[in-house]
Amino acid sequence: MARRRTGPTDVVKAIVYDRDGGACVRCGSSRDLTVHHRVNRGMGGAREPWINQAHNLLLACTVCNGWFEDNPRESYEAGWKVRRPQLPDTVEVRYPDGSLYVLSPEGVRTTTVEAAR
Ligand SMILES: [Zn+2]
Repeated sequence: MARRRTGPTDVVKAIVYDRDGGACVRCGSSRDLTVHHRVNRGMGGAREPWINQAHNLLLACTVCNGWFEDNPRESYEAGWKVRRPQLPDTVEVRYPDGSLYVLSPEGVRTTTVEAAR
């Protein structure tokens, strides 16, 4: 896949990879991973400084990355996509075990709803 000049830095990508445990946030796969933007970059690239920060990014396999675009309603509900003007650090994200997390720009995730064990 061609790398876009407007994408996140390698440092941020590494932070996202570690935060999400090296697994797709939707299906848990560790194969064919890519970095998904929760708020789309939009036409003409990103103007917002947070667009390539960790709270706007999720680790996702290429299958789920396409699924997010095909299933926007479910993706917004799970926080895998965020609709402007909402900001990505105000919307919880659902992870494969059912836990919900709030993500910080620095790459920290904080549990708000713990999965049942
Ligand atoms: Zn996946």
